[in-house]
Amino acid sequence: MRNEPITFKIKTLTPLWTGGADEKMDRIHETGIIGSIRWWYEVVARGLGYHVCDPTSDNRCGLSGKEKNNEERISKLCPACYLFGTTGWKRMFNLQITSEGKQPVEGNKIFCQVTNSKINKNWLRKVFEQNLDDKNFFGSLELKILSRNSEKQVEDQLKAVLSIMSEFGSIGAKPQFGYGLFELIDKKETKESLRKIHKFLEKNNFKKSNSDEGIFSLKNYWKFETDEIEANDIKNTFLKNPKYIGSNHNDLYISMSFDIRYMLRKRYLQKSKSKEATSEIFGGTKGDKWASRVFVSSFYKENQHDDKYKLRIWGFTERYIADIIREIFIENGEYNKIFSNIEIVTLNKTLREVTEIDS
Ligand SMILES: [Zn+2]
Repeated sequence: MRNEPITFKIKTLTPLWTGGADEKMDRIHETGIIGSIRWWYEVVARGLGYHVCDPTSDNRCGLSGKEKNNEERISKLCPACYLFGTTGWKRMFNLQITSEGKQPVEGNKIFCQVTNSKINKNWLRKVFEQNLDDKNFFGSLELKILSRNSEKQVEDQLKAVLSIMSEFGSIGAKPQFGYGLFELIDKKETKESLRKIHKFLEKNNFKKSNSDEGIFSLKNYWKFETDEIEANDIKNTFLKNPKYIGSNHNDLYISMSFDIRYMLRKRYLQKSKSKEATSEIFGGTKGDKWASRVFVSSFYKENQHDDKYKLRIWGFTERYIADIIREIFIENGEYNKIFSNIEIVTLNKTLREVTEIDS
């Protein structure tokens, strides 16, 4: 029997980066979207205590083709490789992205970043040299999923992980520059999503390993989100001396996560007095090469008709570092009003409840 495709609807809150790796930035590339979903699925699986391989390493899972049956195949695959594919094993689903029925989905908003500092402006111009005339996508998208498996398992896993990404992270490439915050329409509640994934991991006999689980796990996750900030307050605190790269800013979002991360890095260095510790948290200073563990969204509107913005900051670190980062905002007089009552959200309690109740 042929499977029916299932469609997830998403609405962007900050623009989507439309390029694939080294590809021209003209449309949304499925590979970039799938890559980010896989990354988050790995984060969730680790958080639930399961092994996933590093798909870029030589030790990643793979099949030789000599396996006798599916049972043997599954025992050689971690859950991420099972769903998203690896050497000798095809991805469990096909993804087609459309916007209002149209495909391919092309960028519709000219590239835009904004900063207050001349140094940052030069730096951003360098990073995005190739992209200054390109377009990002902002709007509504449909992700049409056609699974290779008829039991709705794959769809359930994707819905669960997309729900978590919508609530806690982002989709697509370049989250460190504020891209990809989104709302999944009809998203599932977090605990239910985690439970769906936990059950799936428990039920299948995926490859096990004792290797180090790494820092990018929901166990190390935290976030804080501001209340809505009036556009005028943003102008008076964050956007004092705006310099635009690419187009002049439109008011759907304000892409200035670079400035905020730069400020955080500088203050964190002053506090920790350790370049090493600072690089560990905020990444290498030379662009993207060394992944940052702290992410800052662009300012986004929850309701596009209002002139109010929110900001989401999240990371994968030990908890006390989240406290230090919040402190940095609070200690800075200008931001104090916005950040003083902000609550840090972590998922450890929910993860414990899910793994204890269901096992
Ligand atoms: Zn794997």
